[in-house]
Amino acid sequence: MCCKGCEAVAQAIVDNGLDEFYRHRTENAPTGQELVPEFLRQARAYDHPQVQKTFVHVESDSVREASLILEGITCAACVWLNERHISALPGVLEVNVNYATHRARVKWDNTRIQLSQILEAVHNIGYVAHPYDPSHQERLIENERRALLKRLGVAAVLGMQVMILAVSMYAGDYYGMEVEFRSFFSWISLGITLPILLYSAAPFYRAAWRDLTHWQTGMDVPVSLGISIAFAGSAWATWHQSGHVYYDSVAMFVFFLLTARYFELVARKRAAEAGQALVHATPAVAIRMTVDGSKVQEETVTVAELVTGDRVMVPPGDTVPADGEVIEGRSSVDESLLTGESDPVGKQPGDTVVGGSINFESPLIVQISRTGEDTVLASILRLLDRAQTEKPAVSRLADRTAAWFVLGVLILAGMTAIYWLQHDPERWLPVLVSVLVVTCPCALSLATPTALTAATGGLTRLGLLVTRGHALETLARTNRFIFDKTGTLTLGKLRVLETHSLAQTDDASLLTIAATLESRSEHPIARAICTAVATPPARIDNVTSTPGSGVSGEIDGDNWWIGNAAFVQQQSGTAIDPETIASLHAGGRTVVWLANRAGVQAAFVLGDELRPGAASLVQYLYSTGKAVTLLTGDHELAAQAAASHLGITDARWNQTPDSKLAYVRAAQQRGDIVAMVGDGVNDAPVLAGAHLSIAMGSGAHIAAANADVLLLSQQLPHLVTATQVAKKTMRIIRQNLAWAVMYNLVALPLAAMGYVAPWMAAVGMSASSLLVVTNALRLTRQKKTGNT
Ligand code: ADP
Ligand code: MG
Repeated sequence: MCCKGCEAVAQAIVDNGLDEFYRHRTENAPTGQELVPEFLRQARAYDHPQVQKTFVHVESDSVREASLILEGITCAACVWLNERHISALPGVLEVNVNYATHRARVKWDNTRIQLSQILEAVHNIGYVAHPYDPSHQERLIENERRALLKRLGVAAVLGMQVMILAVSMYAGDYYGMEVEFRSFFSWISLGITLPILLYSAAPFYRAAWRDLTHWQTGMDVPVSLGISIAFAGSAWATWHQSGHVYYDSVAMFVFFLLTARYFELVARKRAAEAGQALVHATPAVAIRMTVDGSKVQEETVTVAELVTGDRVMVPPGDTVPADGEVIEGRSSVDESLLTGESDPVGKQPGDTVVGGSINFESPLIVQISRTGEDTVLASILRLLDRAQTEKPAVSRLADRTAAWFVLGVLILAGMTAIYWLQHDPERWLPVLVSVLVVTCPCALSLATPTALTAATGGLTRLGLLVTRGHALETLARTNRFIFDKTGTLTLGKLRVLETHSLAQTDDASLLTIAATLESRSEHPIARAICTAVATPPARIDNVTSTPGSGVSGEIDGDNWWIGNAAFVQQQSGTAIDPETIASLHAGGRTVVWLANRAGVQAAFVLGDELRPGAASLVQYLYSTGKAVTLLTGDHELAAQAAASHLGITDARWNQTPDSKLAYVRAAQQRGDIVAMVGDGVNDAPVLAGAHLSIAMGSGAHIAAANADVLLLSQQLPHLVTATQVAKKTMRIIRQNLAWAVMYNLVALPLAAMGYVAPWMAAVGMSASSLLVVTNALRLTRQKKTGNT
């Protein structure tokens, strides 16, 4: 901490939370403007570890990640400028700004740069950045909306008067009007336009001034220039009592531009809201139970105060405040916010509950295991945030072009003015103004982010979490889907159906040995064997797990192996009779073998169920012309049984993670766009190798799965919806981009040639960006398809 002031600010945040702090600050700010020293003091307070706990995700010792709100973003060029500026700071590892939500995600190396330095750097280029806090952002948007509405109202009311005067002057031109009258009307128009210029149009000037003082050209520069030139030209004409006045055009510009900004704001808000339900899922307060001697006391505390190990009471109807384990009470909870699945899930002592789920029936006492940024909900939000801020290539290009585009427009405007001055001096002013106002690079850069934000937010409500910016684009292009079997196409809830002793030992002791070997494995087979045994596992040394094959270990000085036939035979150096293998696998059941140096000792037959909806997904994929492959480490017979039930014609068995990856690579070499669908338990390398990774996500595995798309609902048919949404999103993005490019290509030359009156230019550019945003909003509503 640098000074007492920062210390005090940090303490205030720790005590009252960010939200309370913001409210206090907003209410007490003298003019709503940031005061520089005050800002810096607050910025430094954000370096305080205690303060960071609420909004910074600690990825490793030095790597931190935070979500920020950026105030002052008015166009795509601002996005580009901020990204370029922040990423150039030494120690900043990654930065992405989302134009649709005005949020930035920054990853930095805490040993090289402090968060306050990043905030200061943003401040230095004329923007304000602070930690993302949902209610604060809502308040900001609401304030912005109200301010815009006021400016819009002033422009509308005064604009009307100017228009009436303008109409009389036009009529006067036609029927003849005394010079004094005309002059008088002009002066009055000037007087009425002035407040529009000074009050309603102020945000444009402010942003343009910020851009110019930092040698940047954003959208507001040509707009402000257009308005100023039109006004100055008219004022000059009024003073000299000669030439045309354009007060009506000025009023109209300002009115239309503000209208477009207003609707854009409302639409952006709606697009961002699609994923917002999650943000408000956790309650503000919780009931903490403390044991004082023999008395149990209940106290209400803020959720930020909860720490691991605390016990909280969750009455029916209340939301679970953080992740934990039920230690008392039986009830059912609604986890739909996290999984999209609305059926209540039964909970009893020993079960885990996640923060954000709603308790239904009776009180639960929960011991908190994870709080704040470590909870499942926080990781879901972080992943969604990443997807929404990460930009696909086309969006990046649009942002970068916007900055140059504006510069190009300014140059073209200058040339146009010179040309018209020489050829038709009467018209240089309106033509110049039209050129300055008609272009709309914002349509270009709004095209992609609004569509992606709306689509990903909508999918989240289905329990389908998109975690990367490229995911929808890639999904729309995917032509080969590769599925893992166990846990993906099947439920992965295996049961031991039969135990076959192939030696003299009895079934029970063989099962105990098997369970001992499996005791540390996460594999569904391991869990099945462990639950089949009542006796606790014995001592085991040197456990090694070979993903996709099995497990080995030393029990009582004896080496044991459990796994598929190939693995067990190869490791123990013994052979299994092929007929035994075939007979046990009959009907497509999964079999694992247990062996020691003396040979194979036992076989366990396991049963699993196909996931509901798997067949309909496969059918849909085939019907849309996709290739489908089943890759499994299981035996041929199990693989073929599953494949024939699901109608998959291409199945491959006995695959190790390496050979699965090799298969994916080979398909990619042939030019396929490959999506790998797995359960994320032991197929991480294959998932990472595919163009698009889709994993079954649940509970604590969410962050570990590291996939581009997570099926939190565990409903395979939701992939049908996702594919359809992805296609629709790409179509809308293409439409938007095509419109934006076409509009600008057509409008600019027409304006330069003098075919576009200034008012038409104002309408055209406003309508253009509105069209793009409204088109994207169609994606916020998504139907559930094929839900089973
Ligand atoms: P899938 O590709 O169907 O998801 P895996 O790659 O996870 O299957 O595993 C392939 C095979 O390897 C399993 O069918 C099983 O025979 C064996 N295996 C993998 N892990 C284990 C384990 N922990 N215990 C016993 N067998 C295992
Ligand atoms: Mg698997």
